[in-house]
Amino acid sequence: MILAEDLRFIVDTNAGKLVRWLRLMGYDAVFFNNGNDCLLINRALKENRIILTRDTRIADRKLAKDGALKVVLLSGDMPLEQLKQLILNLNLDPDYNPFSLCLVCNHPIVEQPPDAIQERVPPFVFKTQRVFRECPVCRRVYWRGTHWLAMKRHLAKCLEMKN
Ligand SMILES: [Zn+2]
Repeated sequence: MILAEDLRFIVDTNAGKLVRWLRLMGYDAVFFNNGNDCLLINRALKENRIILTRDTRIADRKLAKDGALKVVLLSGDMPLEQLKQLILNLNLDPDYNPFSLCLVCNHPIVEQPPDAIQERVPPFVFKTQRVFRECPVCRRVYWRGTHWLAMKRHLAKCLEMKN
């Protein structure tokens, strides 16, 4: 059984849309778009990340069969289908740690006093939201607004879907 805080992912270029969804739930996920399987595998081993891929050649490698390399072979094409597979197979929690990672950089976001970000959010948002977080890397500001809630609802709806 892998502890939730040890669940770190590296997402292959063929399943890139998963990255945002994983970060939305609060799971550390990097996107690998180099296309070189050896580099992908090396990075996964070095950083102890689970490879998420549609590529059977990676899942069929001896390292993966031995269990030294953790690989999940995604069965569906749609990101939400793939996400559902991960939630079922790896016991991911859709509410694990939402609103904690930058959706673009994968870096933890930190809370900022509203005054510090006022000039970077629309006035309506500033008036209606209380909690703002900022990515220290790209300086994007996050709040639990309508876009956020729409993504959460979309996720919840997909998880209710029957196979
Ligand atoms: Zn960022």
